[in-house]
Amino acid sequence: MKKFLCLAAGLLMIVSLAACTSKKDELVMATNAEFQPYEYHQGDKIVGIDVEICQAIADDLGKDLVIEDMAFDSVITSVYTGKADLGVAGLTITEDRLKNVNFSDPYTIATQVIIVKDDSDIASPDDLVGKTIGVQLGTTGDLYAEDIEDAVLERYNKGFEAVQALSQGKIDAVIIDNEPAKVYVSQNDGLKIVDEAFTYEEYAIAIAKDNTQLLNEVNASIAKLKESGKLDEIINKYISSDN
Ligand code: GLN
Repeated sequence: MKKFLCLAAGLLMIVSLAACTSKKDELVMATNAEFQPYEYHQGDKIVGIDVEICQAIADDLGKDLVIEDMAFDSVITSVYTGKADLGVAGLTITEDRLKNVNFSDPYTIATQVIIVKDDSDIASPDDLVGKTIGVQLGTTGDLYAEDIEDAVLERYNKGFEAVQALSQGKIDAVIIDNEPAKVYVSQNDGLKIVDEAFTYEEYAIAIAKDNTQLLNEVNASIAKLKESGKLDEIINKYISSDN
């Protein structure tokens, strides 16, 4: 009996040791944590809507979420070169990006809006003709601003730098996504958002073209999150409906 107990204890030790050392599969999320409320730094953590959505997807797939923070224009590249599994950075589905990656079903909608100084004469997208406009490099704001007649484009690595240039009077307007725009305007005096939106867009998760299994799994997870109300719950935690 004693011998059996010893053996059992030994086996238990091996089993628990194996449990400690064997790591669950990882799900690597490439992002650019400069995009409040979707992904941003809070103390030494990266938090936000996209982070919570990916955490829920990782939980659903039984994987550990690993966040890789990088420059915005590296996010899609890291997905199609296989360095990351998911590109999640408030990414708008565009024709151009679809040439390089697949997109999941959209998880939310967004707009590009125009931020101006309180006393600006810019009151609609039509008034941007001939103006100096700040955008974040490689974003849809950058893409669409290129089509504005006679406009001078100033491209910044961070949305925050574009907003700073606007505050300092170096540029006339910033084109940027609506929710980060609200955050910037609330944090900087003397700025406002023009009522009329510039474009309507959908955010989705970028996945390598050859990884259709992950695409299907992610879409199934998103569907569950939508159906259970968890997706709305995550979004409402970061975005109050009355602003
Ligand atoms: N939605 C915009 C885009 O996809 C901006 C995203 C961002 O700056 N993180 O280009």
